[in-house]
This record gives sequence, C-alpha cells and structure tokens, in this order.
Amino acid sequence: MKISKQNYTNETFSHIYIEKDALNYPLTNEITSKLNKSKIVYIDNYNEIFSRKNQNPFLQKLSPSLILAVNKGDFIYKGSPLCHDFEQQNFYYTNFIVNCLFDCDYCYLKGMNFSSHILFFVNLSDYFHELSRLINEIKERPERGQGKIYLSISYDSDILLFEGIYPFLKEWIDFAEANPLITIEIRTKSTNYKKFLNYSPLENLIITWSISPQEVIEKYEKNTPSLERRLMAISQLLQKGWKINLALDPILYIGENWQEKYKEFINSISKKINLQKINAITLGVFRIPVDYLKRFKKFFKSPIAFFPYQTTNGVSTYPEELKSEMIEFVYSELEKIYNKTNIYVV
Ligand code: SF4
Repeated sequence: MKISKQNYTNETFSHIYIEKDALNYPLTNEITSKLNKSKIVYIDNYNEIFSRKNQNPFLQKLSPSLILAVNKGDFIYKGSPLCHDFEQQNFYYTNFIVNCLFDCDYCYLKGMNFSSHILFFVNLSDYFHELSRLINEIKERPERGQGKIYLSISYDSDILLFEGIYPFLKEWIDFAEANPLITIEIRTKSTNYKKFLNYSPLENLIITWSISPQEVIEKYEKNTPSLERRLMAISQLLQKGWKINLALDPILYIGENWQEKYKEFINSISKKINLQKINAITLGVFRIPVDYLKRFKKFFKSPIAFFPYQTTNGVSTYPEELKSEMIEFVYSELEKIYNKTNIYVV
C-alpha cells in the first residue's frame, strides 16, 4: 500500500491497534481493507497503547503503528494563544488525527504525547455533527460573529499524508461546501496537492503551507519535501485559484548569519511563487510549553531542544531581544515585497 512516497518505510503501520468500539465504522473497514498486510490487534481503549507511560517515542517514530479509536471526549477546542488566530473571534481547532509521519525536530507533538504512533478517530461523523451544532449556536448570538467559525483541522498532524488510505480531504471539502459560515484551514508541509485539483476552489477553505529555508528542512524537518517542491505545489494551487497562506513558523535561530539565510529564503520564495496571490503570511519564532520541552530533551537529542530558551508563563522561547530581532528582520524583509496588512505575527 503506497500512501506517500516520501515517508513510508516497510515498517510503517505493520501493526494496527483497533478499539473494539471502532469496529464496524466505515472508516475502520476502509482502512483495514487498504492496509491488508498489517497485523491487527484488538484493544479495549486506545489509551492502553497511546498513553502508556515508559514508551520510547523516538523508536516508535521510526516505525509507527496505527491506532483506530472512537473519540468519546471533546471534538472541537478553542485555539491556543500560541497559535495564529488571524484575529478571528471564533477560532477553534480539531484533531481527528493525532501525530505525524514527518519528523520535525521542533514538533510540539513530541513533547505533548507519550507515543509517536498515529491515532485516527474513526467517528468523523460525530465531529461534523458537533461542528453543525456549534455553527447553529453561534449563529443565534450576533455578538459572537454571527456563526462565523475559523477551524484549523491539522494542528496535531499533517492530514494530507493519509489521503492514500482514506479520503479525509473529500469529507472536509464536502462539509466546507455545505457550511459557508465555517472557514476550514488545512496546514501542511506535504506536496500531496493533486487531490485539490479534483475540486473547484472554495472561498472558505484555506491551505496553509509551512515553509522554511532549505537548510532548516534538511537539518530539522526530516522526511519532508524540499522547499522547491513545496513552492511548486503552492504555485500549482495558486494558479487554480485556491486560497493559500504561508506559515514562516517556526523561525529558527540557525547560527550567527541567520539574517543572511532568511533573506535568501524570502528572495527565493518571491521568485518561485506569485506572492501577491497569497492570502496571508504568518510569522512566529519557535515556542513551546516548558513541560513539552522537558520531554524533547529526554527522548529527542536535537540541538533545537538544548538552546538556552527563556521561559515565561510556562512557555519557552528565545530570549526577548533575540525573538524581537528575528521577527522584526523577517517582517521587514517581507513587507518589502508583500502587503503588510496580511502579515500576522504571533
Ligand atoms: S509536519 Fe507538523 S505535525 Fe508533522 S512533524 Fe512536522 S511540525 Fe509536527
């Protein structure tokens, strides 16, 4: 079964753990029939595997298993203050897939979860049901933006990587089309863009491409497509009229000549894509809850984990002076070539 050429090893999904309650969901059946060589293990509750203590997420990252479960908790969450909210009053996120096949050294999921296995919640229809309820609730309260919701659906994974085993994108495009009051944002580093070409662009669906200098990609974004391939994918969808944001996030301190490297990076973006067609650009330096950083240090020995960050209100990030310098520099380079009213900084 080929899901994505760039990030599948023979060992990926060699095992599928299935909650007994997740049996008989169409999504479970479709996935198990596609991954028909995987060994299936039945479990009572996904937390037996996903939240078990004393796991080694570093080793699991090399050959992750898949867990299929039913979400019996919350479906939609208020957006974190550490994320860009685009000044949206009703900014939410959801996570029907948790964890990722890419391997970014700075990924907060490595600090947040005990496991690196990939978790799918198969009761997607319950997510749509809950969203419809939320839209109706907000619609009746004009002070809450008359029903308008901004929903990010891929903070806790790069969902486009899984299109080969289930057509998640189609489900969300159908939902967005039927619910114009909701704006759906899909974040990605992948170049699995071709499925978008099967649909007409939607005003209320935004694809946010996360991009970094090629040096950062090679050192800290393992298994991800090169900058050139990402820009090519962006350019294709821009030409078709899709709404695209760029996320220059996290901006990393990559040595003393970081300004030069980020300047070169911004120049290369402007040469490869028509920036005037980009809907918005978001900027942010690396930041992470301090507890997550502790787990990074324990299991993932990247230099990213060991920078002397400063911690304020439980969040670790670069010292204030460096942080401001980094944001101001990247912002000033961007505003030379892009409308600054569409640049958002967190
Ligand atoms: S692409 Fe995003 S979700 Fe996936 S590992 Fe990188 S930072 Fe984490």
